Amino acid sequence: MGNEAKAKLFVISAPSGCGKGTLLNELSKRFDYYYSISCTTRKPREGEVDKVHYFFITDDEFKALADSEGFLEYADFSDHSYGTPRKPVEENLSEGRDVLLEIEPNGAFQVKKKRPDAVMLFILPPSVASIERRLRRRALESGETEEQIQARLKTVVPDIERAYDYDYVMVNGDLDKAVEDLVKIYRLAKEGGAGLEEFSAANMKETIDEVLENA
Ligand code: 5GP
Repeated sequence: MGNEAKAKLFVISAPSGCGKGTLLNELSKRFDYYYSISCTTRKPREGEVDKVHYFFITDDEFKALADSEGFLEYADFSDHSYGTPRKPVEENLSEGRDVLLEIEPNGAFQVKKKRPDAVMLFILPPSVASIERRLRRRALESGETEEQIQARLKTVVPDIERAYDYDYVMVNGDLDKAVEDLVKIYRLAKEGGAGLEEFSAANMKETIDEVLENA
């Protein structure tokens, strides 16, 4: 005891449709952290449960929370607002429990500004085409319209362009390898980050370039 690593705040961004759900589910089996539940003004998709996947709230409720400093960060994405409730993040960290936020880049950089010790990880798709395929498949199940798919696709390249400024970058290609990488990043980042050079944004630059060039 005594040399236990301090509670860490992990901020993970990955374009929607990149398959991060499965990955994060695997991570949650191996580590104990508080997974932040965001507020959003979008409607629930089929299977999504209020207060489990999101707090689904109205525009007015969102605005009231934003005005009363209720959010650690918030941003608009694809015509809706998303925000991280501030209190649970602060409470868990002060109790010594890691916290994981899964948010888009505008919000992620707001968090980094407020908490420079946050660990920022970007999960890249193997290609932009793979995202489009996944979004279209999901749209068939959830009834999303072509317009909604296009709105999401529009943010993919600009989001990936922000990957250069994260602490760590990894690719969600082969699932087993991606789980292994994510677990390694989590474990070593908690211990201060030594041994994670292969995932630094500088070392991942060519991979990011490649995904963008082929977009
Ligand atoms: P979706 O609508 O597919 O659940 O999420 C759309 C995007 O919003 C994803 O990139 C997701 O990471 C992001 N997001 C989810 N919650 C938050 C949040 O609290 N704050 C911000 N800034 N982005 C969020």
